[in-house]
Amino acid sequence: MFRRSVIALPLILSAPSVWAAPQKAPVKKPFPKPRLIALDPGHGGRDPGALGYNGTQEKGVVIAVARELQKLLLSGNSYRVMLTRSTDTYVPLRERVARAQEAKADLFLSIHADSHSSPEVRGASVYTLSEAASDREAEALAARENMGDTAVAPSSTVARALVAMAQRGTVNDSRRLADTIVGTFGRSGIRLLPHTHRQAGFAVLTSPDIPAALVELGYLSNPGDEKLLTVRQHQVALARALRASVDAHFGSSGALKA
Ligand code: ZN
Repeated sequence: MFRRSVIALPLILSAPSVWAAPQKAPVKKPFPKPRLIALDPGHGGRDPGALGYNGTQEKGVVIAVARELQKLLLSGNSYRVMLTRSTDTYVPLRERVARAQEAKADLFLSIHADSHSSPEVRGASVYTLSEAASDREAEALAARENMGDTAVAPSSTVARALVAMAQRGTVNDSRRLADTIVGTFGRSGIRLLPHTHRQAGFAVLTSPDIPAALVELGYLSNPGDEKLLTVRQHQVALARALRASVDAHFGSSGALKA
């Protein structure tokens, strides 16, 4: 018995962990993961959106461009992508906002195509949320885009969202995103409306935490734009310009987030 305890003693002393100060567990850095881009193809199902000069439906054009953009964003594992609708179904605007918020999207792009009483008007335009519309056309457009929904954003909802967005810096980020899209479209040779970045009370742009813009890809009421919007090559060109805009928006911070 005695012999055994003598042998045991140096073994215990030589174990440094017994005497060393307790070490803090190393802080685990979260593994950087690709940012999540929410793509919101407008309308769908019973809501066809704008109708073209030759009968093209907005809901079909915008989901085709959204799918091209999804492919481009996913290539190279740079981003994750969610679609607020991936089929020809009707999704209320509030539900689209909720889906993006629930998924904790880093960016929200609502994709539309417009129509105008004058068939001469053509070109793309980009919109961000504002309580007061920048002009009558933007106000009328927001009313049209909000119309498909049973829950149209009342001005109090827009005002509340804007306060929350201002506190989180989302208003500035959204404006920067819209300006980036305008710049990228210009450099990509995509025809733009004059005064391209406009503002109005769009219900679908009211996520307080997610920088968001609504892009009108062109006017279906203009036969030239309508034709372009149905040609796959142009849809891909639009998707490429949007992908370049997303890249430029994140800039040096890159597609990955900590
Ligand atoms: Zn629309």
